[in-house]
Amino acid sequence: MTLMLTPNYPLAKYTWLGVGGNADYFGIVDTFIELKEFLKTNKQPIILLGAGSNILIRDGGIEGVVLKLGKEFQKINVQGDTLICGAGTRLSQIAKVALENELSGFEFMADIPGTLGGGLFSNAGAFGRSIKDCLVEMRTLSFDGQEKKYTDFSNWGYRHNPLSNMIFTGAVLKASGKEKKAQIQSVMDDYHMRRKATQPQGVRTAGSTFKNPVGQSAGFLLEKSGLKGYKENGAEMSSVHANFLINRGASGNQLEDFVLWVQQQVLAKQGVYLEMEIQCLGRR
Ligand SMILES: Cc1cc2nc3c(=O)[nH]c(=O)nc-3n(C[C@H](O)[C@H](O)[C@H](O)COP(=O)(O)OP(=O)(O)OC[C@H]3O[C@@H](n4cnc5c(N)ncnc54)[C@H](O)[C@@H]3O)c2cc1C
Repeated sequence: MTLMLTPNYPLAKYTWLGVGGNADYFGIVDTFIELKEFLKTNKQPIILLGAGSNILIRDGGIEGVVLKLGKEFQKINVQGDTLICGAGTRLSQIAKVALENELSGFEFMADIPGTLGGGLFSNAGAFGRSIKDCLVEMRTLSFDGQEKKYTDFSNWGYRHNPLSNMIFTGAVLKASGKEKKAQIQSVMDDYHMRRKATQPQGVRTAGSTFKNPVGQSAGFLLEKSGLKGYKENGAEMSSVHANFLINRGASGNQLEDFVLWVQQQVLAKQGVYLEMEIQCLGRR
C-alpha cells in the first residue's frame, strides 16, 4: 500500500487547543512497511502528530507532511510483565491494558490524554513517575527510513527526552510489579480525583504550558505574578490551575503571543525564565 497524502489539510480539529492552519500534506500511516517505503522517497519535512494534546499550531499551518500513526501503531502486545506498544497507542489504553493484566506502574498514564509517541517526545509523566521509568526499549525510524532501537535512558529527565529529530514507532514497557486489579484501580481513582480537584475540566487546553523550573512550581510563579485567571483576546491562564492555558476563541498566533507575553511577565516580576512545555509548531 502506498501512503495517500491529502493536500492543504486542516489540522485544528486534531488538536486539543483547536487552533492552527493547514498542513501542506496530511496522511494517516497504517503500517510500518508503508511508513518505511514513504520515508525512502520523501523529500519534504515531516512532523508527527499524536493526539495533539501538547501542541499549539500557528495560523500559517505546517510546511511539508504531517503524519499520524494509524492501525498497526495502535496495538499493544502483552508478554509477561512487559507491554510492547505501538507509538500511536493512547497512554490511557496502555494503563487500561495494564490494569486488565494486573500489571502496576502504569497508573499515572490513565489520564494523560496523549499517545505513546507524544509521551516519548516529552517523557510525559505525573504523580512522580514518567515514561522513562517504564521504558525497556524504544523503537525509532530516522526520516530516511533507518530503524534504530534504544535501551539506555539514563540521560532522560523531567519532560526531557534527549533524542529528537526521529520518528518514535513503538516501545517495550515494563511493569513495576504485579498487583490486584482493585489496588491498581484505587491508585488510578485517587490520581483521577486529584486531577479533578486541581485542574480545569472540559476546556480547550494543552495541559501544562510551562515546565516547572528546578525546585519551583510554574503554577505558583504564574500565580505570584498575578496571572492566575488572567485573560486577553480569548486566551486565558486558568483560574483553577495557573499553568493551564485555555483557549476561549483565540487563534493559534494569538495564543502563542499571549503565552510569550505571560513568559515575559514572569521573567520581569520573578526573575525566572519559564521554559515552554507546549510545542508551538508551524508558520505564523
Ligand atoms: C488535560 C490535559 C492534561 C495533561 N496532563 C499531562 C500530565 O499529567 N503529564 C504530562 O506529561 N503531560 C500532560 N499533558 C500533555 C500531553 O497530554 C502529553 O505531553 C502527551 O504525552 C502528548 O502526547 P500527544 O500524542 O498528544 O502528542 P502531540 O501533542 O500530538 O505532540 C507532541 C509532540 O510530540 C511529537 N510526536 C508525537 N508523536 C510522535 C512520534 N510518534 N514520533 C516523534 N514525535 C512525535 C509531536 O511532533 C510534537 O512535537 C496533558 C494535556 C492535557 C490536554
